[in-house]
Amino acid sequence: MKTEASLTYFELLIPEEAIRKRIQEIARTLEADYEGKEILLVMIMKGSLLLVADLIRALQIKVCIEFVSCSSYGESGTVRGRLRVNGLEQINAEGKHILVVDDIFDSGHTLLGVIDRLQKMQPESMKTLVLLSKRVPRNVPYQPDYVLFDIEDRFVVGYGLDYKEHFRGLPGVYALLLENLPTQN
Ligand code: 5GP
Ligand code: MG
Repeated sequence: MKTEASLTYFELLIPEEAIRKRIQEIARTLEADYEGKEILLVMIMKGSLLLVADLIRALQIKVCIEFVSCSSYGESGTVRGRLRVNGLEQINAEGKHILVVDDIFDSGHTLLGVIDRLQKMQPESMKTLVLLSKRVPRNVPYQPDYVLFDIEDRFVVGYGLDYKEHFRGLPGVYALLLENLPTQN
């Protein structure tokens, strides 16, 4: 990742240190908002992996973790497929304070699809937290409750986010300059 060539593929948007600082801030906010309560954190795999790992270490309140993974099938071109949410059957959300965590809020379909399904399990409360929110026009009237960073509409990788399953381990968030990537996989 630190070769000369890699510099032409990535543009650093959010340095590691800025993420670390923002996680501490959001942890203090969550501690105040959930005072005396226990959070059931539902992470959306795999993009939220690093965020959740850092967030739960920063939090000084009780947190349990469950996870789901999402895929859209029937996707062709710009037509969005139906969202499939795997892992819901493992989750007992009834009467719990659910905090759904995802890597990025783009069109909003993923997060809304997940909270819609969890809502049916009658949780006590339901909130959402994302690392990134893209500044894009959306046709869903929803905003996540906690956003660590707003970013412009570019394809990003790192800190859990992938391009074809690569680059999740980069410590910061980078815009990926797709046009500069080598063509082989
Ligand atoms: P949405 O359903 O809000 O349109 O998209 C959310 C999902 O799309 C995220 O969970 C993430 O997996 C993926 N996604 C959207 N934008 C990006 C991006 O810029 N980079 C990466 N790596 N994934 C993205
Ligand atoms: Mg994802």
